[in-house]
Amino acid sequence: MHTPQGFVPGHALPDPLSADAHAFVFRDGKLLVSGDDRAQAPPPAVPAWGDLASLGIGGTPHFLGTLDGTPCVAVGVAADPSLPHGWRFAGLRSLFFALPEPVLATAARASQIVEWDRTHRFCGVCGTPTRDKPGDRAKECPACGHTAFPRVSPAMMVLVTRGREVLLARANRFPVAMYSALAGFVEPGETIEDCIHREVREEVGIEVGHLTYFGSQSWSFPHSLMIAFTAEHAGGELAPDGTEIADAQWFAPEAVPKLPPSVSIARRLIDATVARLARMPARS
Ligand SMILES: [Zn+2]
Repeated sequence: MHTPQGFVPGHALPDPLSADAHAFVFRDGKLLVSGDDRAQAPPPAVPAWGDLASLGIGGTPHFLGTLDGTPCVAVGVAADPSLPHGWRFAGLRSLFFALPEPVLATAARASQIVEWDRTHRFCGVCGTPTRDKPGDRAKECPACGHTAFPRVSPAMMVLVTRGREVLLARANRFPVAMYSALAGFVEPGETIEDCIHREVREEVGIEVGHLTYFGSQSWSFPHSLMIAFTAEHAGGELAPDGTEIADAQWFAPEAVPKLPPSVSIARRLIDATVARLARMPARS
């Protein structure tokens, strides 16, 4: 996920907020959309701000910005409202390909703001209820002045190559038979490059070099920024750690296993690299 075309970020709520503003309403990480699960149902859509009262939904709007000129707000609801027929809360993952991509990307942004709002209601230092800091996407403590910003957790992803082979691993948490690139969260004090060397060493026991940046993806489950690289094998034999990584193997371009879905940066990284390697002559 990324900043959609036509999106202008902002944090100062317009006054008044127009009734046609897109309202991204979340409860337990699920987004309020129209429609139901039937195959023949019309495509889902998010409600307008002006619809929320008739849906029995209240809450403080957090301004996100504008999408093609229309204001967008995020609203978190704690309790389960009894929704009228034709509305439901749906997991964001289930809405891939169902919502227009710019709306989905804005919803992913909204979900992170709602999650931050939900988990920063009290000061982490002194426990006083926080308030939104005017002019900033931040919460401040009126008693001690502590400020809390939305959390983004950087993580690395790396696809290691050896000649025309790629290293793909099956994490224990993956569905059986699915393989992907290696990934892991950055630890305090590390650069992203440090993280790549450490995670590759820990997970599969090899050394890598020639790190090359590929791209990044915001991933709101709940607040990751995945930063993807390719790297070349520089020494050592594969030794999967057995806890996080169940299996890791070198695969030729002609023999890649089942891969993650195409919405993930993992899949784009693997597809682009495998396509490049496939053009290299196979050793006889
Ligand atoms: Zn405080």
